[in-house]
Amino acid sequence: MIVILTGGTGGAKLIEGLSHEIDPAQLTIICNTADDFVLYGLNISPDLDTIMYTLAGLSDPAQGWGIQGDTFTVLQQLEKLGGETWFRLGDKDIATHITRTRLLRAGLKLSDVTDRICDNLGIKARILPMSDDHIETRVETSEGVISFQEYFVKQHWQPEVKSVFYAGVEKSRPAPGVVEAIGSAAGIILCPSNPVTSVGPILAVPGVRNALMQVTAPVVGVSPMIGESAISGPAHRLMAAQGLEPSALGAAKNYADFLDQFVIDSEDEALTSKLETLGIGVVATSIRMKSLADKQGLARQVLALVDK
Ligand code: GDP
Repeated sequence: MIVILTGGTGGAKLIEGLSHEIDPAQLTIICNTADDFVLYGLNISPDLDTIMYTLAGLSDPAQGWGIQGDTFTVLQQLEKLGGETWFRLGDKDIATHITRTRLLRAGLKLSDVTDRICDNLGIKARILPMSDDHIETRVETSEGVISFQEYFVKQHWQPEVKSVFYAGVEKSRPAPGVVEAIGSAAGIILCPSNPVTSVGPILAVPGVRNALMQVTAPVVGVSPMIGESAISGPAHRLMAAQGLEPSALGAAKNYADFLDQFVIDSEDEALTSKLETLGIGVVATSIRMKSLADKQGLARQVLALVDK
């Protein structure tokens, strides 16, 4: 069994590639839930949804979120009724959130709810939320402390960021199966996800980082950075705010206590010796995933490293 740590968009690209290269039933995916929030009374788990839609073959590859071909009738009506519409919820997507909310209110844990939704969508991989507890990434900006969704989606990551923290994480516990999966994995893959808002919260759940440090199975990561910038989104800004060098090297330093190999872009090949000094093996290749062929090609390289 291969264990994967992931956020939403960048992670989903690699996971799509992996799902074509290996039987998805062999994948256990530990997913960030610190972006989760409530809108219109609905429990929304953006990263879980992106990964589920990807593995169910429903995702919209052009947008990187939501369901392909979805309509926005409910949202349009909500707007007429004076509702906030900065977070784009498609009609079919809303069905996921209604189902999640209903099951959570009936007393199920997020991990059980995720299991049920995955079953109903015919997903063979095992998807685990990092925790069943409420953890929320908060972004301290020049204008005050806001949620990650407000920063990222509503404000288009424009405010200056002073710091990022994960409210509630200290008292949280890993969801059932998370630590066990890491401990029994044949290999572990760290997706090219945002080091601060996707991988950071997973590692901050007490017990997860420790479990990763103890594994003897290979741990292989893929950089979300090329040069001094994220391939998409604000990772470089958030890394700088957290005192991390905004580069593949900065990301790798953050994982150095458990990472064996890091796949970086050929453009960053000059970082190889610095990464090796950290005790991390390096593969320099093309890490941009635009087509399915790119995703599968990178997935094959990562699987070859995990197989060693
Ligand atoms: P989020 O929860 O939607 O932010 O999803 P992730 O954290 O999984 O993905 C965001 C990260 O994916 C960003 O930091 C991007 O730089 C990275 N990313 C996006 N597209 C690609 C790609 O094609 N290749 C790689 N290596 N990283 C990517």
